[in-house]
Amino acid sequence: MSFSDLGLSDELLKAISDAGYTDPTPIQAQAIPQVLMGRDILGCAQTGTGKTASFTLPMIEILASGRAKARMPRSLILEPTRELAAQVADNFEIYGKYHKLNHALLIGGENMSEQIKRLEKGVDVLIATPGRLMDVFDRGHLLLRDVKVLVIDEADRMLDMGFIPDVEKIVSKLPQMRTTLLFSATMPPEIKRLADRFLMNPKEITVSKPATAAETIKQFLVMVTGAGRDQTSIAKRKREILRKLIEREQPKNAIIFCNRKRDVDVVYRSLERHGYSTAARLHGDMVQSVRMETLSKFKSGDVTLLVCSDVAARGLDIPAMSHVFNFDVPTHADDYVHRIGRTGRAGREGVAISIAVPSDGKYVDAIEKLMGRPIERDEMSSAAGSGSDTDADAPVKEERGGDRGRGRGRGRDRGRGKSEAKPAAAESEAKTEAKTEPASEAAAAPAESAAPAPEPAKADNNKPAEKPTAKPERARRGRQDLRNDAGTMDDKDVVFGQSDQVPAFLKNF
Ligand code: AMP
Repeated sequence: MSFSDLGLSDELLKAISDAGYTDPTPIQAQAIPQVLMGRDILGCAQTGTGKTASFTLPMIEILASGRAKARMPRSLILEPTRELAAQVADNFEIYGKYHKLNHALLIGGENMSEQIKRLEKGVDVLIATPGRLMDVFDRGHLLLRDVKVLVIDEADRMLDMGFIPDVEKIVSKLPQMRTTLLFSATMPPEIKRLADRFLMNPKEITVSKPATAAETIKQFLVMVTGAGRDQTSIAKRKREILRKLIEREQPKNAIIFCNRKRDVDVVYRSLERHGYSTAARLHGDMVQSVRMETLSKFKSGDVTLLVCSDVAARGLDIPAMSHVFNFDVPTHADDYVHRIGRTGRAGREGVAISIAVPSDGKYVDAIEKLMGRPIERDEMSSAAGSGSDTDADAPVKEERGGDRGRGRGRGRDRGRGKSEAKPAAAESEAKTEAKTEPASEAAAAPAESAAPAPEPAKADNNKPAEKPTAKPERARRGRQDLRNDAGTMDDKDVVFGQSDQVPAFLKNF
């Protein structure tokens, strides 16, 4: 099937061809004709399947004729995060280039009065996060009774982030006569119930099994062994392993996921101190302008290693991303699928490597159960007492930095208490970030993120900053090669193969 079979206009076909797409993806082939006929859609599709175009293309077609009135958008797209909303707006720029439709973003962290001014002029497509939308609605600057098409994107993530009550309020303000499209990577019962209420006789489209990772993603799990029970040693070992993985894999660009915001900072600072000058960080507390700037640097290639929390990374669309590293195994199996879905997009190959400690066993079990298959164990594991870590890797006390010359013991002890929490704490903080992000949309950013980022401390070991990818002599090496040639990997730090202490959850495989 080609795009020209889907019922789209010549202007759209031209824009699609300008974007370089030759064939529709399965969700596009199935959804576009249905949406054009006014049918509701319940789409079970993960990111990377081309689902954004599956709703933006027919929306442009439907809205092509007609004009928006002041404060009365003609369509509404709800997104869980500001970044994702911004990306959907980018999609409208790309696909709508031969149309005169206008769109507006209603997202937190940006000037509300500017957004209201746009609404006053009349917008065809309103792309919003639920918190800001309700805020503007409650202030009387928005009327929703002219909305003909509603998209609820990433519904499972909305659920995780506590947005569903807002979504329900918003939907109650919309006219009954409308087309509703609901997309979700997974279909938990709560979302199914929501769909039953919001959608009328929807066409159900599932483009891959719920919560199934794209086949093009190669997944590996590195077990951290022999680091003892001390959380500080474990975290340090994980940072060593991460660096080794980066050296080994030579990613073109990678996202490094941490479960907690403060670990995003610790890992980012550690990389920076070890000379990875193209590393950056992204988490939910950072002010919107900094987040957007970081994201655009990542897209342009100025940043190649992006340390992220789940919420901050939600919906990042980096088409050619080569790697995802899970510095922490996510405590929710669904998050694993979302995370690794950042790579291997639109049929491209990607690599996802997770660093697991023995206490992650139950999370790994849940992930493998959800995906219906085991994750291949990477041959690299880490032994205790490597001694290769220098002050360059000392956990950062707090965001304020400036810890050059700080006593080794002092710095570490300061960082330890706060940054090395138990998995349960990690889980609760991950949730807290998700829950607080909507609230922070209108609120001022916390002092931590409002302050300018501290000057990066130079690597204490005087290692010159260099791009991880800029090492031509280190050709990308296969896992097998590395196992047979461990000398290139600082083998005093690394033991290949599992230690004698095989965690219980591994014994099954
Ligand atoms: P999405 O799942 O909407 O986040 O899309 C993932 C990526 O696939 C984006 O970078 C899109 O630009 C790209 N994409 C969408 N549709 C197509 C297509 N038909 N052919 C090639 N790439 C596409």
